[in-house]
Amino acid sequence: MIFDTHAHYDDEAFDADRDVLLESMESNGIGTIVNVCASIDGLEKTIALMEKYPFVYGAIGVHPDDADQMTQETLDKIRTLLQHEKAVAVGEIGLDYYWHKEKEEHLIQQNMFRAQMEIAREEKLPFMIHSREAAEDTLNIVREYMKGGMYGGIIHCFSYSKEIAREYLNMGLSLGIGGVVTFQNARKLREVVEYAPMEQIVLETDSPYLAPVPFRGKRNSSRNLPYVVNRIAELKGITPEEVIEITEKNARKLLNL
Ligand SMILES: [Zn+2]
Repeated sequence: MIFDTHAHYDDEAFDADRDVLLESMESNGIGTIVNVCASIDGLEKTIALMEKYPFVYGAIGVHPDDADQMTQETLDKIRTLLQHEKAVAVGEIGLDYYWHKEKEEHLIQQNMFRAQMEIAREEKLPFMIHSREAAEDTLNIVREYMKGGMYGGIIHCFSYSKEIAREYLNMGLSLGIGGVVTFQNARKLREVVEYAPMEQIVLETDSPYLAPVPFRGKRNSSRNLPYVVNRIAELKGITPEEVIEITEKNARKLLNL
């Protein structure tokens, strides 16, 4: 069944129908979902979803958008919550220079990114990275940590060139592919998908964001993943069933499930 490695069901976009929607996943072919914590607020909400739904796992971490609000206490809390038996990764962590242009903000983001990479290493867990308009700095930090030994990771919503993809793939990391692959202007990402070995691709939605065509711009959910699966199948010249099977296997292996 389909494995969604990256969704945000704690988001307020799901407040009106969260339970009905999540209860409909299994009958729509969605077998497993990782709810990825993005904000400091989302930490407890992610744990609540993991405890309520047997098929929901959690990634615990804080997004670069909230880096400036993080303290030592936040890092301690992440470490504590990662002890939960259904916590499978540290994320989403990384750098976002698209929404944050100031040099000072970049330094804060880098510090919190490093601090959370340290936690992933200590806890022997894979990481999930968000990187936007910060290709070089992200790559340098990931490279540095990979040299010291890490436990795998996913570059979520990969948005860079094939050349940068090659660097991550050579380090043994995986690329999270979602709705963007169906967008008409996503030529660069389709090249990356054609190039990447099938064993290093995992499915993701980033729900409620990035709904695939024909729902682009609307609220996304894991139930839309068949559109992404079909596009990957076309690009790789394999069947949709094979895409689902291989990406599920990849996700289980990476997240130790
Ligand atoms: Zn996300």
